[in-house]
Amino acid sequence: MSTPQPRANVAEIPPYVAGKPPTVRPGMTSYKLSSNENPYPPLPGVIEAVQAGVGAMNRYPDMGSAALYAALAETFDVPAGHLSVATGSVGLIYQLVQAFCDPGDEVVFAWRSFEAYPIAVTAAAATAVKVPVLADGRHDLDAMAAAITDRTKVVLVCTPNNPTGPAVSQSELDAFLARVPSHVLVVVDEAYVEFVRMTDPVDGIATYRSHQNVVLTRTFSKAYGLAGFRVGYAVAPAPIAAALRAVSLPFGVSTVAQAAAIASLERRAELFERVDSLVAERTRVVEALRGVGWDVPEAQGNFVWFELGDRTLDFAAAADEAGIVVRPFAGEGCRVSIGETEANDRLVAVAAAFTR
Ligand code: PMP
Repeated sequence: MSTPQPRANVAEIPPYVAGKPPTVRPGMTSYKLSSNENPYPPLPGVIEAVQAGVGAMNRYPDMGSAALYAALAETFDVPAGHLSVATGSVGLIYQLVQAFCDPGDEVVFAWRSFEAYPIAVTAAAATAVKVPVLADGRHDLDAMAAAITDRTKVVLVCTPNNPTGPAVSQSELDAFLARVPSHVLVVVDEAYVEFVRMTDPVDGIATYRSHQNVVLTRTFSKAYGLAGFRVGYAVAPAPIAAALRAVSLPFGVSTVAQAAAIASLERRAELFERVDSLVAERTRVVEALRGVGWDVPEAQGNFVWFELGDRTLDFAAAADEAGIVVRPFAGEGCRVSIGETEANDRLVAVAAAFTR
């Protein structure tokens, strides 16, 4: 008897491996450094705003998220019509591919990069074109430009790159954009933009203003510490933003998520002080790791990358023993989030003691 069959390439969708929670060990505090989360809980004012919305959870949220659009428009000085909010910025990646790709169209991105890219691309029946990152974890923008064909509809530029860490500079991005045909959409995934400290950083807003084919995706999950609420936003020229809103999941951003995001935008100064301390911790950790002989790539996000090859799972096990859970990519390396000071100290100690 025949049964309903999903589209053939659904079986090819790679699994998303979520960061493991820490192993519970008696008498030992364990830390989760496996999902690039923010170790700080939401600010009290954010929790109050959320609590005020809970009583109305028998109702659907404002589907148009009008107050959130207004707050984003004011914060970033862009028209509300140039924005699209979604269920996390991963929701935006899905919407971008869905709105711009016919089956078989190509989406070019660096690899290894954010693991949701091949999932979203394959889920939309589009074709993933993976361009290996350079030895130092940077995007190979020359090779990415060369990979563009007549079938390419979208290019994803992940900066800083998850999981390897380096960011693209504005001059590198400008040179790349000059090589991309104007009908190809360039998505600049800025999930970690608030953590970037480099010379010549990308000015995403200026870049989208001067290009008809550039869209920025950003998130409340990292710098704003709201990963559990699932809110992301795109900034794009009006027709692109409209296409994203057209394919969006109805009511995809809950009432409490909207409230949390708005209250966090109002408290950006305080939240960005926390980002500064995480960046200071990142600097401390990277210097300590280099001091004990690790050649870690430049870290511009809230995480550090260890290239470990076939020792990857051994390193993850050693970290687990020390009460920190990291994110292993078997055969490649481990990505470790910058977390609480104690957690970061343990990471440095594990790395110092690990014989490669
Ligand atoms: N882009 C990148 C590069 C990421 O690392 C992540 C989260 N790990 C996301 C997008 C998605 O984040 P969210 O859906 O929580 O906004």
